[in-house]
Amino acid sequence: RVFNFSPGPATLPLEVLEKAGKDVVDFQDTGIGLIEMSHRSKEFMTVAADAEANLRELMNIPQNYKVLFLQGGASSQFFMIPMNLLGDKKKATYLDTGTWSNKAIKEARIFGDIDVAFSSEDSSFNRVPEDGEYTVSEDSEYLYYVSNNTIYGTQFPTAPSTSKMLVCDMSSDILSRPVDVSRYGIIFAGAQKNLGPAGVTIVIIREDLLDTTPENVPTMLRYKTHADKDSMFNTPPCFSIYVMGEVLKWLKRQGGVEAIEKHNKEKAAMLYEAIDQSDYYRGHAETASRSIMNISFNLPTPELEVKFIAEAAAIGLNGLKGHRSIGGCRASIYNAFPRNGIEKLVAFMRVFETNNPA
Ligand code: PLP
Repeated sequence: RVFNFSPGPATLPLEVLEKAGKDVVDFQDTGIGLIEMSHRSKEFMTVAADAEANLRELMNIPQNYKVLFLQGGASSQFFMIPMNLLGDKKKATYLDTGTWSNKAIKEARIFGDIDVAFSSEDSSFNRVPEDGEYTVSEDSEYLYYVSNNTIYGTQFPTAPSTSKMLVCDMSSDILSRPVDVSRYGIIFAGAQKNLGPAGVTIVIIREDLLDTTPENVPTMLRYKTHADKDSMFNTPPCFSIYVMGEVLKWLKRQGGVEAIEKHNKEKAAMLYEAIDQSDYYRGHAETASRSIMNISFNLPTPELEVKFIAEAAAIGLNGLKGHRSIGGCRASIYNAFPRNGIEKLVAFMRVFETNNPA
């Protein structure tokens, strides 16, 4: 297998993939493959219940929160949140730190009165705000932010400090570090980075918010519909939930979120050190805003970047092309990305610099 630096879908633990391969053909000696099985079967209900229990344990989710397994991608949460929470054009405050917050702001404006209290657009989204750099209006229902900005490689070092309820898109750093769930009204994440394959979106929602939805919201788009039926109102994305369950068990075997955070920090530090040691590589994010999940960087010229990406792929370092909106290179190193892949990349960066002077 090559080292896969893809931003998502992304590298998953090999032992999970191997087990999934077997279970897809014959799940627990039932003679039926996992994705052929009724979602109401005893076997699948156990898979879903275990996945929820393990997520609750790993994130220390309080009892007064529901965990939902939804479809429609993280992008559907951009409208579901304001649609359910901002009836009668209520107000919310958003922090604009890149493409994903931008898209969420656009959708929220369909439903509510949206105040954008901070934007780093002028500096190509190379940083997140510091506390005190923005004001959350008193009549806001919530403060919305994207904890890790997958494209620009920035990450909030800690949750924004505000007395308001937080709502957060954690698609690209969920379970990479401890989070105090009780600070949030809603946390959501598409699975395809730290949780498993694309197809399931996790929503963690405080129970009292289930009753705020306006009457005219369709059944499938109401959080309460899914909460009342344990995410089985309609056929759930069975395969994605199953693989996510296996990833969660794997994460527990690694020692849980605290242990993986240490590991993630060490991995990211190796790469940032390589960037900082030379003038050849330039990190996109300001130091205080650096992500431990996605590391975006540039070489002296776009031509050298193309050559770098091609030569890296030729030695088994894949997926290093930056997002089309900022170009350059990006190494996505989520929980399951192995340390030796980073060692190999760092060694390659040194050789490439020597062989290709600016
Ligand atoms: N939010 C963030 C932070 C992302 O990185 C992505 C996708 O990469 C999305 C939302 C959109 O997710 P989806 O493709 O599941 O709609």
